Amino acid sequence: MRPISATIDFAALRHNYGVARRHAAGAKALAVVKANAYGHGIARVARALVDADGYAVVELEAAVRLRETGYQQRIVLLEGFFEPPELSVMREYRLAAVVHSFEQIEMMRSLAPGPGIDVMVKLNSGMNRLGFQPGDFAAALEQVKASPAVGTITLITHFANADDERGVQWQLERFERAAAGERLPRSLANSAAILRYPQTHADVVRPGIMLYGCSPFAESTGADLGLKPVMTLASEIIAVRDLAPGEAVGYGGAYTAESGQRIGVVACGYADGYPRHAPTGTPVLVGDRVTRTVGRVSMDMLTVDLSGAPEARVGTNVVLWGAGNPVEHVAAAAGTVGYELMCAVAPRVRMVEQVNG
Ligand SMILES: *Cc1c(COP(=O)(O)O)cnc(C)c1O
Repeated sequence: MRPISATIDFAALRHNYGVARRHAAGAKALAVVKANAYGHGIARVARALVDADGYAVVELEAAVRLRETGYQQRIVLLEGFFEPPELSVMREYRLAAVVHSFEQIEMMRSLAPGPGIDVMVKLNSGMNRLGFQPGDFAAALEQVKASPAVGTITLITHFANADDERGVQWQLERFERAAAGERLPRSLANSAAILRYPQTHADVVRPGIMLYGCSPFAESTGADLGLKPVMTLASEIIAVRDLAPGEAVGYGGAYTAESGQRIGVVACGYADGYPRHAPTGTPVLVGDRVTRTVGRVSMDMLTVDLSGAPEARVGTNVVLWGAGNPVEHVAAAAGTVGYELMCAVAPRVRMVEQVNG
């Protein structure tokens, strides 16, 4: 069997959810499991977090599947619904939805009488993706309150800069102004705001990336924040080669050995989800030593520098990211974020559940 696998650590997931809960004590925490739980497998993550207060996704099919599996908690669609037929599905499966546009309110008018659908009415407080403008918020809320299709109402907004220097205060002020006088429950915080801004915790928080042990901040790793990595993408060295001075490796000969150099070929490539644009120098753990990739990442393989790992041979374990090689470091080297790397793990990578320990 090809040696690549992604191990998912259930205890780490529970630990990280607990960290979110402790930071936002008193608030409910919706586990954000969109995008197949950031690449970790939604069914698997829901099983690990069976006691979560609720789940948030963007895919209706994923929400239905969670409900069919038997989870009774709140399940929220973070982008809401797109077409009227989805509303009857939402009602049947008791799914809650973000309502961010007058078009959606209009769609709700066409729904036949029946039990109300729980909604989260979204304010655009400055991110300028989804949500009602501050000047429209009161009118939107009046229409939602008057709609017979609506069950409970929560107010929601999303931060654009909770992870950087600009922070949340400017958006928080807009939200508080728009929501002034409303006694409805509120949901504002993503992982970065949960970790950094207690004034945003309100009634419901929405931890995503932190559940998976990855830091939302560029300047730290999950471990710095008390989080544990959940996914370890690992493979093995499947060939070892001694390059003579001047010899190049891989497509385009993008890396040339200046002096004699031992390199290892690892069974992991971009078809496994490893970023092709990761340059020479991207950190990789070989055995128990951190070394670096060399040359271009190809579809099924990549190559690593073994000069600092003399004991490495065919069969030596390689951690592409995860325990011992933080995904944040790999992402930084590749010019991206841990979110994108984890979401991109390909279906051909075997997932292994580590349930104890
Ligand atoms: C994805 C998402 C989150 C979670 O964000 P993280 O940065 O992963 O914690 C929270 N709220 C909304 C609306 C989202 O789309």
